[in-house]
Amino acid sequence: MIKKRFIAIVMLIAIVAIVFIKMEDSKAKQELLAEKAEAKNLIALLDVQEQSSEETEQDSVQGQSSEATEQEDSIQEQPSEASKKRALAQQAHSLADEKLVALTFDDGPHPQHTEDLLDFLKAERVPATFFILGVQGEKHPDILSRMEKEGHQLAVHSYDHVDFTKLSLQDAQKQINQTNQVIKDATGVDATVMRPPFGAINDQVTKNVDMPQILWNIDTMDWKHRDANYIYNTIVKNTEDGSVILLHDIYGTSVEGAKRAIKKLKKDGYTFVTIDVLMNFRDLGLVVR
Ligand code: ZN
Repeated sequence: MIKKRFIAIVMLIAIVAIVFIKMEDSKAKQELLAEKAEAKNLIALLDVQEQSSEETEQDSVQGQSSEATEQEDSIQEQPSEASKKRALAQQAHSLADEKLVALTFDDGPHPQHTEDLLDFLKAERVPATFFILGVQGEKHPDILSRMEKEGHQLAVHSYDHVDFTKLSLQDAQKQINQTNQVIKDATGVDATVMRPPFGAINDQVTKNVDMPQILWNIDTMDWKHRDANYIYNTIVKNTEDGSVILLHDIYGTSVEGAKRAIKKLKKDGYTFVTIDVLMNFRDLGLVVR
């Protein structure tokens, strides 16, 4: 009798152990899948940027033959280069039909508020563009590297927040090059666009620097109104397809307002993209105002 009970208890423990191990296993698998999906999204986003124009041309030439190619691919069952390209093109087309919006954050990185914002953007899978202040980036290369790894765009603001219209070309170039170097040292990637402090556009820079000067079309005035409600309302009331929203990730109120606005804009069907991606799909010109 005692022996039977002992065997029953041992079996029960064994069953519980097996169930527990299986649960842990499937949890680990799910986490791995989620990570893979995230990495794929990121790669697709970057690839779309490079290949979208090429793909659009190819698509219009191919026209009706695409259906036949699709059948061939499904027979092969292996993701060929062509099917990969087509998937990217499809994503490019779908982006073109979406309501697109770009969040831009100036003057950072900030050790607390930028990290807080990055945690939120990661959880929400929302990319943004950061116009980096060289002097800040130099202090926090780890944050710059994190931004790049998590699919955000890093761009040049200036080294120490100067007014470009008051600088010689040589000094302006030094500000841009120094800041780009800080970004490149941390991420291995060169910046492709810049935003002059105060939005002070300069012909001298426009003509001589190979980087578009990107302004904005929604100014949250978040540096003046340190009020998350005000920032949230300004964003939500004014955003439309193609909006470039100006914020600063050095204020907690800006990050808070942006978080709430992101939730709302998502519900309203907006897709968040970086400036580089937005420039591929919308005619922003050299300068956004
Ligand atoms: Zn600034």
